[in-house]
Amino acid sequence: MTLLLRSSEFLKHKTGKHPERPERLTAIENLLEKSGLASKCQSVSWESLAEKELMQLHGPKQVEQIRQIAAHGGGRADPDTVICPDSFKVSLYAAGACVKAVDEVLSGRHQNALSLVRPPGHHANAVKSMGFCLFNNVALAAKRALTHHKLNKVLIVDWDVHHGNGTQDIFYEDPQVFFFSIHRYGNGFYPGTGAASETGALRGLGTNLNAPLPYGVSRKDYLSAWEKNLQKAFEFKPELVILSAGFDADHRDPVGDLGLESEDFGVLTKSIQSLANSSCKGRLVSCLEGGYSLEGLSEGVKEHLSVLLAKS
Ligand SMILES: [Zn+2]
Repeated sequence: MTLLLRSSEFLKHKTGKHPERPERLTAIENLLEKSGLASKCQSVSWESLAEKELMQLHGPKQVEQIRQIAAHGGGRADPDTVICPDSFKVSLYAAGACVKAVDEVLSGRHQNALSLVRPPGHHANAVKSMGFCLFNNVALAAKRALTHHKLNKVLIVDWDVHHGNGTQDIFYEDPQVFFFSIHRYGNGFYPGTGAASETGALRGLGTNLNAPLPYGVSRKDYLSAWEKNLQKAFEFKPELVILSAGFDADHRDPVGDLGLESEDFGVLTKSIQSLANSSCKGRLVSCLEGGYSLEGLSEGVKEHLSVLLAKS
């Protein structure tokens, strides 16, 4: 069974004229309803993440900064990252959705889950919110699996077109979390990190894997880099897979564009699903990150969800 977590609360994170805007979720919602996919999924209600749990990962100064900007009518965490009066509240609800998805999948009630949240999270590290991201949803979800559910090994896969620098930072020295990111890299592309030489440190050495690709890479080369590195990541033998699912590598994306077609997101999902089936009974929690072409984003999510449903 596939669990789908979605809520109109996420539309309250208002960013003005900005690529990461509420219409992204409305476009996904419309297509999932029209295609009949939404009605095939299970749903669940959830709570906002408790601040105590948020602060097990994010520093008090960072949490206070976001709270204060929101409380004072809004502003920015950095030049790219807009905060409106509701953003602090909405970001706790987004993190809560990803954590709830972990609880549900690990309970065995659902084989996999898709959390359609915003704001996204993978650029936020433990001390700084940046790149449209306030708090790191997938990192908080992984922490939940390790601390509350006592798992020993979690794999985070990030196929957003941008390097998941925040997630990498958080787990760089952590041997219990393997982080694999495939992303566009070079010529100043944001955020600038994610070289293949970044492989983890101290006890986490060897648990960080980056597949940086140049702009203009062919779909064939993208998919072969994906397959090769994903296999390597699964040698970690995870007990749970968490996915930072961004759809900004789509060829229509105004921000990312790594030339992918919608159907490619189905292909990516199939390979991760098949490896998750062998490694951890298919336990996969997918969390929305980027994707800024409304058409590319909604069609990519549709392909992704179709495969999640088919295999569960
Ligand atoms: Zn992105």
